[in-house]
Amino acid sequence: MLIKSLKRTMKNLFSYYLVLSLLCITPVNAELPNLGDPTQKEISPYQEYLMGKNFYKALKANVPFVEDLLINEYLDSLGQKLVSQSDQPDNTYHFFILNIPSINAFAGPDAYIGIHTGLILNAENESQLAGVLAHEISHVTQRHLARAMTESSVSPAAMFATILAGILLSTQNPQAGAAVLYGSSAAMMQSQINFTRHNEHEADRIGIHLLRKANINPAGMSDFFGKLLKKADSNNVLAQMEYLRTHPLNSTRVAEAQNRILASDKKLPDDSLDFQLSRARIIVMTSTSLNELVNHIEKLDSEKNNITRQYTHAIALTRQGNSQKAISILNQLIQQHDHPWFRLDLAKAYDINNQPEKSHAVLQKLALLYPNYLPVTIEYALILNRLRQQEKAIEILKQQLKRKQHPLVFQILAQNYYANKQVTAALEATSHQYELEGYLQLAAQQIDYALKQTNLNPSTQQRLISRKEALLNKLSKEQGFSN
Ligand SMILES: [Zn+2]
Repeated sequence: MLIKSLKRTMKNLFSYYLVLSLLCITPVNAELPNLGDPTQKEISPYQEYLMGKNFYKALKANVPFVEDLLINEYLDSLGQKLVSQSDQPDNTYHFFILNIPSINAFAGPDAYIGIHTGLILNAENESQLAGVLAHEISHVTQRHLARAMTESSVSPAAMFATILAGILLSTQNPQAGAAVLYGSSAAMMQSQINFTRHNEHEADRIGIHLLRKANINPAGMSDFFGKLLKKADSNNVLAQMEYLRTHPLNSTRVAEAQNRILASDKKLPDDSLDFQLSRARIIVMTSTSLNELVNHIEKLDSEKNNITRQYTHAIALTRQGNSQKAISILNQLIQQHDHPWFRLDLAKAYDINNQPEKSHAVLQKLALLYPNYLPVTIEYALILNRLRQQEKAIEILKQQLKRKQHPLVFQILAQNYYANKQVTAALEATSHQYELEGYLQLAAQQIDYALKQTNLNPSTQQRLISRKEALLNKLSKEQGFSN
């Protein structure tokens, strides 16, 4: 407990120091990239890549992320659906969710797009969330941030520091964020980063086009913006609505967005069960009293129970430890509507209820129905490991990696290799995990440990040596860039 709180204090101190040092643009912190010559103006693609990577790493180290795979996969698929309709469908986008109650969304360098849980909770349907995503994606496709950096009077390195400081501050305490930023010289730079009215209109216009092409009702965008504006006016809660500060919004903008909606758009779908279930998961995850939440649901008229309410009930009960009751609700839900999440949560509830065999049976079936669906692969591999079936777990994880490299897959793969006494393979898997998380030094260190294993066959040894060289080259390129 003490260590935990000490760690937290250290983390807070670190982030406080980080933010202060960023605001003063003092010598660059070890965690931050030195983006080359401070007088250099033009941003190269490699510089943008490094900015994005370090931006994400700094957020990861300082801000609470939603780690729930189901919600993350949902947001990613919604985001990719929109990206696929843009004029740059092959660009890599990274969508992620921060567990922060204020209403905000932002597009950082190199297409890193973050959404706060507060925004998802305030959206009523999928088209409203998709409206915000489409707007952010359009800031990226129109290169608004990259252009602002290039055209600004300050260097990309200083600009990067300001963006990061602004976002870190706003994610921790919205009021302090605004106060500190506007009270310092950084305010000047911030004003250059804030998207101009022209950029906002452009992102709305292109965003509406993306929504329509992705077969999502674009009216969700203007509805959500209108709702935010009304809320800000009536409650004077601007500090909670970071979004309005970073994306200036007024009634003209909302009206213009409304005017762009065609009569035929109204026929497009504006909601999905996946959105409502993701929102339910966030409600449970962010609940300060599960007892109150469960009591509240149980007092509601059961005649009017819909799928989402029953699902919220079941996952809140599981989280509370009442897995028996959750199992019965989830089984009823599966009878009504066969959604993979109901089965995944059923498997989890069985596991918590000390019925790992039943959990295994549910996951085995799911893995056949949804091969290479990340949340299923991970849960299935975890239960296989517990049931000492590591060979099978390793097989499905390796299969998953063929689809997409994900640090969590490597992490679970390493656990299975260790349990199966394949230490070299475990170290290699961890090395890949660290590389994907952006920690090249640690990734190379794992290969060093692997090379120290006895009885390595010559081909493994050669592979390890080549991998270490590749990692060190990548590292020296990044460092060389900062020297
Ligand atoms: Zn905007």
